[in-house]
Amino acid sequence: MNSLHLKSFIRCKRKAWLEFKGTKSYEVWSPNKAIDKINQFQIFSEFCNGEIYTGLKACKNGYQGVIGLKVKGIFFQNINAEIRPQLLVKTQGISKWGPYKYLPAVYKLGHKTTKEHLFDLSFSSILLGTFQESKIEKGLVLSSVGHKVNVEEIYLNKKIRKKVLNILLNLNECLQGSMPEITQDRKKCTICSWQKFCDKEAKENGYLTDIDGIGSKTALLLKTNGISNTQTLASYSEKQLGEKLSKFKDQKYEKASKFVKQAQAYISGEPYCISNKNDTNDILEKICSGFFIFDIESNPDDKHDFLYGFLKINNLFSKKEDLIYEPILNLKNNKIESYRQIIKILFSRKEWPILHYGETEKIAIINIAKNLNINFEEIDSLTSRFIDLHTLIRNSWILPLKNYGLKTVSNWLGFNWVQKNVSGSKALYWWIQYQITENEIFLKKIIQYNKDDCLATLQIAEFLIKNQLKKN
Ligand code: SF4
Repeated sequence: MNSLHLKSFIRCKRKAWLEFKGTKSYEVWSPNKAIDKINQFQIFSEFCNGEIYTGLKACKNGYQGVIGLKVKGIFFQNINAEIRPQLLVKTQGISKWGPYKYLPAVYKLGHKTTKEHLFDLSFSSILLGTFQESKIEKGLVLSSVGHKVNVEEIYLNKKIRKKVLNILLNLNECLQGSMPEITQDRKKCTICSWQKFCDKEAKENGYLTDIDGIGSKTALLLKTNGISNTQTLASYSEKQLGEKLSKFKDQKYEKASKFVKQAQAYISGEPYCISNKNDTNDILEKICSGFFIFDIESNPDDKHDFLYGFLKINNLFSKKEDLIYEPILNLKNNKIESYRQIIKILFSRKEWPILHYGETEKIAIINIAKNLNINFEEIDSLTSRFIDLHTLIRNSWILPLKNYGLKTVSNWLGFNWVQKNVSGSKALYWWIQYQITENEIFLKKIIQYNKDDCLATLQIAEFLIKNQLKKN
């Protein structure tokens, strides 16, 4: 077992097991992991003033920062283990290499120092202490705060060391045993590289957490009431279920009806229309003389939207090839210029609605308008032009899907992205690559991805409208 297994084990036992014994071809490359590695290296490099070298030789030479060192060792009960410290930082002391020693350091994304960081440092300190022949009292947690490196010192006392030893024993037992169950908290799965593999099994076994709106707590509540899989849920009486869902108070019958219908749709593969009235009628009227589709690509950690993409649609029945797509890049040094361009586009057709998927786009545009000191009346009228198709589809349809994300819904409608295996995280990965290399190829990839996101949104609009027309 090694440090990576420990890190995974803290998140999900099954993930650690899969990384140790799973079939590697089922694992999918994760852009989040790659982004994490790039950020990590940038912070480490800044902290060590660029003096970062790799492996054992770097320790012997006494460089300030060392990455890529692997140290094997045995801890109690003859368990073989290996540490892979993210970074070693040179400090005062005496070790087998001379009048200095190393401390382990880890990278932290966000504000919170978690068990994952503490246990990683503690595990590293146990084997590294023996290896360098010098005890380690503390480790460092490095993060980026407002483009500066923030350093937190963690004292690795007996209590933490004892805890990590217990976890390592549990990890060892888990790795020797059979594959653990899928985690109850499926939110953890969204950025996991084993997601596809686990999703398949969850669907086959009728996991309740596959049903939109059912998290680990609701799944547990249903299980204690004898509903242990999607099949049972789909055949349950909505009224009886509502009585068991008192935790949802006034909404209990509404929730029960949604859960049962969602389970039925999921199993049958058939969508279910829940609303015959208002919203979709409205959209049809509003868009008949043209509309925009708008989609943003952003870096949430940096709070930076790096690309705004517009699709101009004069007529819903125009051919896809005739649509005008306009991407606007938001480079940090031309922020205001890109804001002006966006507002110019939107104000060029003040009567056109702006269709988007999810709430981010509307918030971003309103903030841009405020930033440019546009007057209140104009901002109010701009605000009223947004139509969120995500809310609309959720309110009017129950789809045979696990979630209502843009990719899931439009894929179900038959939309295909030009580039394979893409996601918002992958676009962010390309953006980071572009910033490092300035290679235009990454920009082209991001723009193609964003254009496809706009076209996917259009496909969802078409679905809503077509079904509305059928009813009228
Ligand atoms: S997809 Fe979910 S259950 Fe599967 S290994 Fe990853 S976190 Fe665990």
